[in-house]
Amino acid sequence: MKADAVVIGGGIIGCAAAYYLARSGLRPALIERRGIGEETSCACDGFIMLQTKKPGLPLRMAMSSARIYERLSQELGYDIQYRRPGGLVLIETQEMKEIMEGVVDRQTKEGMDVEFIGNAKLKSLEPLVSEKIPAAVYSPMDGDVSPIYTTRALAKRAAELGCEICTGSAVTGIRVQDGEVRAVVTDKETIETGTVINCAGVWAPEIGEMMGIHIPIRPRRGHILVSEAVAPALRHEITDARYIAIKHDPSILEKATDPTFRQGISLSMEQTENGNFLIGSAREFAGFDTDCRFDILKGISEYSTRFFPALRNVNMIRSFVGMRPYCEDGVPIIGPVSRVHGAFIAAGHEGDGIALAPITGRTVAEMVLGRETEFDMTSFSFDRFLK
Ligand SMILES: Cc1cc2nc3c(=O)[nH]c(=O)nc-3n(C[C@H](O)[C@H](O)[C@H](O)COP(=O)(O)OP(=O)(O)OC[C@H]3O[C@@H](n4cnc5c(N)ncnc54)[C@H](O)[C@@H]3O)c2cc1C
Repeated sequence: MKADAVVIGGGIIGCAAAYYLARSGLRPALIERRGIGEETSCACDGFIMLQTKKPGLPLRMAMSSARIYERLSQELGYDIQYRRPGGLVLIETQEMKEIMEGVVDRQTKEGMDVEFIGNAKLKSLEPLVSEKIPAAVYSPMDGDVSPIYTTRALAKRAAELGCEICTGSAVTGIRVQDGEVRAVVTDKETIETGTVINCAGVWAPEIGEMMGIHIPIRPRRGHILVSEAVAPALRHEITDARYIAIKHDPSILEKATDPTFRQGISLSMEQTENGNFLIGSAREFAGFDTDCRFDILKGISEYSTRFFPALRNVNMIRSFVGMRPYCEDGVPIIGPVSRVHGAFIAAGHEGDGIALAPITGRTVAEMVLGRETEFDMTSFSFDRFLK
């Protein structure tokens, strides 16, 4: 087979890249060793939450991505269940309030609509929150989407536009000659191409090794509890300040005295259209171990009832684990590999891959085509690790 470009990985990032490449008129191929969206992109929440993004390029890209999400169902011809109910970051302690003051200050300067609110307004927005939670930050800009519907819709539309989707096919090698990509080798065939885009999530380093490059991405495990379906009770996307503190600075865990804090446990909560609560979350470096740990689930359960006491009366019916692709410096890699002409990376989105997928796909397609990108991508470049 021949392809204008080969995308490795059929998670949300690879499917977004394939969609934008095909939409630009190229005939790419997408290679996925399992099925579409069967790894991290289906073991996660679907927050399009701008408040949790690091101010700077991550936040600016997330805002642009959110604008794309507004029209994506229509563009793809498939309902990806995008909504924008607004989001709340709950604040339990003075220490967390001080962290949030710095975050909110920088977010406001970047154009975010965010405001501190007290318990009375918080309870009017979200009646089930505990009276003991003194404050929160509210933004009407936060939304959510179905990650799996989005991933599959991007792949489906990419295929309609001429992308060859090869599932059940594992990439085993990349042929590079005279510093240029020549072919991608799978366990089924060899695909001649001059362009390869590594969207393999936590496995991006394995693909990097095939080209002799070291990509500093590793799994950061997360647990989610799923409740029985109940009547609509939650109106917003919910996280807490600890979620933001841990996400932005993993070293904060070493200083923590609260045992659940040391385990990386914080609050994330949404209610699905079916009525199930998805309650998380934890952030841990545990290699590729995807077993659910009872102590973590218990910690998440106990921690969430500090904010929502009524959860004590709701049954949990299952749990799952996902592996966030965490890049050494906490931001993704999006861009070309200067040492290997024709090689690109779009990976390492950690807990932001769903929110950033559309803008990542569009940006990497623009890079492949040699077009100008919306943002200066220098701080996300792979070359930052070569310095
Ligand atoms: C608990 C949890 C909650 C989260 N919540 C959110 C959230 O609310 N909002 C948000 O924006 N993000 C969230 N995330 C993060 C988000 O899920 C990830 O950033 C995103 O799914 C990563 O997508 P990806 O395409 O890079 O990786 P993946 O979905 O893992 O896709 C990579 C694909 O590459 C394939 N692959 C690997 N090696 C090969 C090979 N050799 N050949 C062929 N194929 C290969 C794999 O099979 C896999 O399908 C969450 C993550 C977790 C774990």
